[in-house]
Amino acid sequence: MIKQIGPTAIQEWHRASCHCGAVVLRLHLPDGIVDPRRCDCSICRRKGAIVASVPLDGIEVVQGQEQLRVYEFNTRTAKHYFCGVCGIYTHHQRRSNPTQYGFNLGCLDGVNPFDLESAVPTRDGVNHPADRS
Ligand SMILES: [Zn+2]
Repeated sequence: MIKQIGPTAIQEWHRASCHCGAVVLRLHLPDGIVDPRRCDCSICRRKGAIVASVPLDGIEVVQGQEQLRVYEFNTRTAKHYFCGVCGIYTHHQRRSNPTQYGFNLGCLDGVNPFDLESAVPTRDGVNHPADRS
């Protein structure tokens, strides 16, 4: 688990926002950032975000629910949320574990994901776990 990224301590309830500030979230991160990663599936390779996970009750929309847009594709299991004003991806309900959200580390207040000290692994999203027999 990661409790500090660069100068920023990860709070138990850490604020996150999109770029324009229309969407504000509160993330419950009692264990800090767990298992940050990238993914090379067709959507993640375009977004390029570093993500980590929380349970579904670990994200509260504080502001901007009406601005959140959802994008679905393929099996439509995953729900990819982004701000309808600035277009920034904030979080998504995961396909490989629909009881969790993945979230964009770069949206956390004060967090520069490039300050992560260890290398961020890339998951094999081309051969998605849900597609393997
Ligand atoms: Zn926005």
